[in-house]
Amino acid sequence: MEFDLSWIFLGLPLAFGLGWFASRFDLRQMREENRRAPKAYFKGLNYLLNEQQDQAIDAFIEAVQSDPDTTELHFALGNLFRRRGEYNRAVRVHEHLLSRGDLSRADRERAQHALALDFLKAGLLDRAEDALRRLEGSAFEGQARMALLAIYERSRDWPQASDIARRMHDAQQGDFSTRLAHYLCEQALALAAHGELPAAQALLEQALATAPQAPRARIELARLQQRQGQPEAAFDTLQALAQAAPAALPLAAPLLVETATATGQAPLAQALLQHHYEDMPSLDLLEAVVALEAANADTAAVGREWYVRHLEREPSLVAATKWLAGETLTHEQFHPQIQRALEQAAKPLTRYRCAACGFEARQHFWQCPGCQTWDSYPARRVEEL
Ligand SMILES: [Zn+2]
Repeated sequence: MEFDLSWIFLGLPLAFGLGWFASRFDLRQMREENRRAPKAYFKGLNYLLNEQQDQAIDAFIEAVQSDPDTTELHFALGNLFRRRGEYNRAVRVHEHLLSRGDLSRADRERAQHALALDFLKAGLLDRAEDALRRLEGSAFEGQARMALLAIYERSRDWPQASDIARRMHDAQQGDFSTRLAHYLCEQALALAAHGELPAAQALLEQALATAPQAPRARIELARLQQRQGQPEAAFDTLQALAQAAPAALPLAAPLLVETATATGQAPLAQALLQHHYEDMPSLDLLEAVVALEAANADTAAVGREWYVRHLEREPSLVAATKWLAGETLTHEQFHPQIQRALEQAAKPLTRYRCAACGFEARQHFWQCPGCQTWDSYPARRVEEL
């Protein structure tokens, strides 16, 4: 007969369960009770040894019906099945536990939670949602709400996600104000995509009020104002962003240049950008400074000197590549090839990287598509990390 590793996985918790069961009886009692209850266990064990796992489960279910003390054995079996990816079996075990009338409240909640985990792992989100909702008011409420939040975020059901996050915020299970603001921003973007700009703006203002310290609502609001032909309002919003969340300014630097140029406030924007660049020599702020200098006839010739100044502070391949692009080389005929090679080498350095899971992307994400963490992308490029 071939040796199967799964025996060990099945056998260990079974041995624990049986050991625990046996320890509850002294020998004299055992002799008396042996005649009544545990036959089903040995039947189950026999099936297991013969690799008839379905029949073994049936035997254990029968054992549970005649002896309520086997709850732990059931939990062990259920968890075991889930870990092995046998979700149908795990669900069957936990549903059977739940159908029992004599289960204590604590065990009932535990079984309900285990059942929700079975559905989650199996990817049956509708059934997981239903099972998780039944855990409201139980000892597993906090965990269940977090799992529900993940389900609603994954299905982009922002109103339901907001409802759960607000309840957790009110119950002091954490500060969910930034997340609530993100949900409002997501809904605003969906409205804006359908051309409902005033409604989108109202939601962004609500997001701003919910989390005034968070940068996203101001950046999205400035974009929307610019789109509605209000560059002055957009410029003001970005000035407020520089005040409230300066670390996020690199994300809005190109928009700042655009709105400042449109409203004739380039000198003000230049001063603002240079001030923040001194504190934080960001590549995006550098690009914005160079772009504003290039747009001005008086400074167009010296704009690229900013790259050299940056290189004195940081050894940056990105800045070196950009400076070199405007240079005249002795062997000018080879410049395109050299430039292409450098740009290719510098490209991965201009990505954004999730601080939680390391996922890299060409664009900045407010929620990581890899690990679903919010605000895990710094507003800096890989080269600056
Ligand atoms: Zn991530």
